[in-house]
Amino acid sequence: MPNIVTPESTAVEDYLEIISHLIDEKGYARVADIAKGLEIAPPSVSAMVRRLDEKGLVKHEKYRGMTLTPEGEELARRIIKRHSILAEFLKLLGIDDETAYHDVEGMEHHISSQTLKGIEQIIVELKNDPRLCGRIKNATRTED
Ligand code: ZN
Repeated sequence: MPNIVTPESTAVEDYLEIISHLIDEKGYARVADIAKGLEIAPPSVSAMVRRLDEKGLVKHEKYRGMTLTPEGEELARRIIKRHSILAEFLKLLGIDDETAYHDVEGMEHHISSQTLKGIEQIIVELKNDPRLCGRIKNATRTED
């Protein structure tokens, strides 16, 4: 099944991803840290956090920051898994870290679970074939 991707679903995934990372680091997420991480103005972040609260994805406690509901955690877990598989894939292709991060942040919202399974298998195959990996890395090293 293809992912239904909208600007809203993309934003929700970006927020859940960063909120989950902040909770791992600090135990909770605050609007200011989300704003900094996503480079979005704090008032816009507050508005989005209210929508995530209404959707039942975050528990937002005034003055304390927020945590994820079980449903929010499940969605965050899925997006973070997609991110890490795609990041590993691009690393095997020899893509530099900055480019890879930028590409993954775009790709992770659009990829179906079926395509992701194919990429997971390619990762296995590439790791078993260093010469193929080397040929691909040579190709990606070349500037356009
Ligand atoms: Zn990501």
